Amino acid sequence: MTNADGLTDVRERIAAAERTAGRAAGSVTLTAVSKTFDADAIRPVLDAGQRVFGENRVQEAADKWPALREEVGDVELHLIGPLQSNKAADAVSLFDVIESVDREKIARVLAGEMSKQGRFLPVHVQVNIGDEPQKAGIAIAETVDFVRRCRDEHGLNVEGLMCIPPFEENPGPYFALLGELADDCGLEKRSMGMSGDFETAIAFGATSVRVGSAIFGTRPRQAAND
Ligand SMILES: *Cc1c(COP(=O)(O)O)cnc(C)c1O
Repeated sequence: MTNADGLTDVRERIAAAERTAGRAAGSVTLTAVSKTFDADAIRPVLDAGQRVFGENRVQEAADKWPALREEVGDVELHLIGPLQSNKAADAVSLFDVIESVDREKIARVLAGEMSKQGRFLPVHVQVNIGDEPQKAGIAIAETVDFVRRCRDEHGLNVEGLMCIPPFEENPGPYFALLGELADDCGLEKRSMGMSGDFETAIAFGATSVRVGSAIFGTRPRQAAND
């Protein structure tokens, strides 16, 4: 299967999952996760009309995307991986949405960079939905208050929540919980679901799904956060 075929297949599965869930056609955005794949692998997916992409490392995105953007223009690039404060300036200039805001310090540093650059990006707050000690994300119990502080104290444009459920568990209850938390925060957007579980996520109200390997094929193993 080529990457363009992978994209077509994922688009069809998203449309089918929308129908099954009784949701409007086109209500779920596909974020194509291109981490570890080079420009030659990404180009066919751009040629097939995909415009929303996710990357999990600032440096890797900086190496790949400025040239690809010159070729196609209107790409929307999402940061979906952990962000260190020393990379915040690059992240703000390179990305269009930051989905991985998960602690006070990064909220403050991002807000400062956005003011400095005059680029006020929408952000998502990442929730550690399985309360796993090793995993990124704000604790469930702190989510509502953290979202409030991101908005009121830091002036961030929080538009949704993002999560990665624990691996090898039924993800449905975690997706349901993210939906409840988003409701509690008064947020519309829920970024949840990956190659193995995006149909389930759509059934539980995902407004965007982050799909990598089902489009691009199996990734070489990454050292961290994969
Ligand atoms: C890699 C990654 C994905 C995509 O994973 P696949 O299983 O390849 O679809 C989605 N979200 C995040 C945060 C990721 O790091």
